[in-house]
Amino acid sequence: MDDCIFCKIAKGEIPSRKVYEDGHVVAFWDLAPVAPVHILIVPKAHYPNLYEMTGHPEGLAALDRLHRALPEVVRVSGLSDKGFRLINNCGENAGQTVMHVHYHLIGGMELGPRII
Ligand code: 5GP
Ligand code: ZN
Repeated sequence: MDDCIFCKIAKGEIPSRKVYEDGHVVAFWDLAPVAPVHILIVPKAHYPNLYEMTGHPEGLAALDRLHRALPEVVRVSGLSDKGFRLINNCGENAGQTVMHVHYHLIGGMELGPRII
């Protein structure tokens, strides 16, 4: 995807504050953090959203690799002690703004009321 911000970040074509990277996954600071820690966890391959990603075996394998990276991303982000929220906005009604699937990993404070 030529004009995708997160594809460009994954390739290093746009700078970001990376906290983790392997062959398939990159994690970096959100540009506009909503908590003391706000990291985006992103597969290097382009999938528009979680629904599209999980609709076929190749996407499920990519999601598995992303989940396998989670413990290390949590550790290096300093969130292993007190916990965190992992959030995915999928599609229009959820307010997704960057159409390259990603999890928000947020923490570093009491996160306030739960939605669910
Ligand atoms: P969404 O609204 O799609 O769930 O989340 C997109 C997130 O990407 C937002 O929290 C926004 O601040 C972040 N974001 C948008 N553009 C950039 C960018 O160029 N670099 C970084 N690091 N984060 C970005
Ligand atoms: Zn992309």
